[in-house]
Amino acid sequence: MLTEPITYLQRCLQIPSTNPLDGEENVAAYVYDLLTSHGVKTDWIEVSPKRVCLVATIEAGATAVHPKTIGFSGHLDTVPVKISEWTKDPFGGAIEDGRIYGRGASDMKSGVMAMVSMMIELNQHDDLPNHLKLLITSDEENGMTGARHLTDRGDADDLDALLITEPTSGYLGYAQKGVVGVEISCTGKSAHSSSPQLGQNAIDDLYRVIREIKSDRFTITDHSHPELGPVVASITSITGGEGPNVIPSRASFYMDIRTIPGFGREQVLQALEAVNQRLSQQDETFSMEVTIIKDIPSCETDRDDPFLQIVAETMESIRKQPTQRVAIPGGTDGAMFSQAARNFPIAVASFHDFRLAHQIDESIPLSEYAETIELCKRLALKTYV
Ligand SMILES: [Zn+2]
Repeated sequence: MLTEPITYLQRCLQIPSTNPLDGEENVAAYVYDLLTSHGVKTDWIEVSPKRVCLVATIEAGATAVHPKTIGFSGHLDTVPVKISEWTKDPFGGAIEDGRIYGRGASDMKSGVMAMVSMMIELNQHDDLPNHLKLLITSDEENGMTGARHLTDRGDADDLDALLITEPTSGYLGYAQKGVVGVEISCTGKSAHSSSPQLGQNAIDDLYRVIREIKSDRFTITDHSHPELGPVVASITSITGGEGPNVIPSRASFYMDIRTIPGFGREQVLQALEAVNQRLSQQDETFSMEVTIIKDIPSCETDRDDPFLQIVAETMESIRKQPTQRVAIPGGTDGAMFSQAARNFPIAVASFHDFRLAHQIDESIPLSEYAETIELCKRLALKTYV
């Protein structure tokens, strides 16, 4: 394996970019300089002062017969680090026994630098069969605001296919759940607790909402996807009350709902409106408000899509073993890119081991990095019809 891609990855791991702390712009600056110094046309796109995305493009050669625009994507932010728990320097990029260590080694600086290495190498190519577009995002680990920003700008609208090199240990991800986070609040009327009849107890009202949601009448968790499983909903926090002797005028809870293709934000809102109507019919003073806090769509590419087939075959040709297609339990930027104006297949795949993602002493074997660079290169050079 060439030494340059290893040096790129090592340098990238040495620049902290933990989310939600600072640093994402520093690692973006490193990658921007690296790409542009090798002649790769790259746009610096500021989402906010500390959050930057990069879009790098290479045009197909003049003799290309059926050029497609093949997209590659990954994020440069990482989850935080508790340095005292690590036995290696999380920002050292040390290499020992063929493994490279550091926060983001698995998720997913290796994935990003594999694509960057591919772009640098193929920029020298005179007769590329495809247009290549690399979308590097910020803030994937928190709100996916980077991918959302690029999608809103239309940066994904010209893609014919997209590979996201999240760590998948050689599996090929084709579907993922979404997340709808809602705050449900009840507003009552405060009064002295010695005279509760003068007020309207918001906690009592909220309790009735929760009882309704936990009853058989609330059917959102009956919806299911053959591989992603059922919609799941959990109440994850609750607040309310003004003081020990005050009838509470306000109470709320947060519910995290993991959605599936065909059941998202609209269906969640409809189910909650049905709860509102049932309770309002029982008591005309009842009031409940629903606020969407988080909305990350689910997405799915047909398992038999030709691009997925090509990715699977290419992975098989590199690793000499069958590629298993899987639904991914967590979310990726693919959720946002799936909202682009044009519909295109999205594959989530790399050879990077996901078992150490977000873990202490995060690391991957460099052999997996070499395999992922090879995967990106072969997909970029493939003739698609
Ligand atoms: Zn990731």
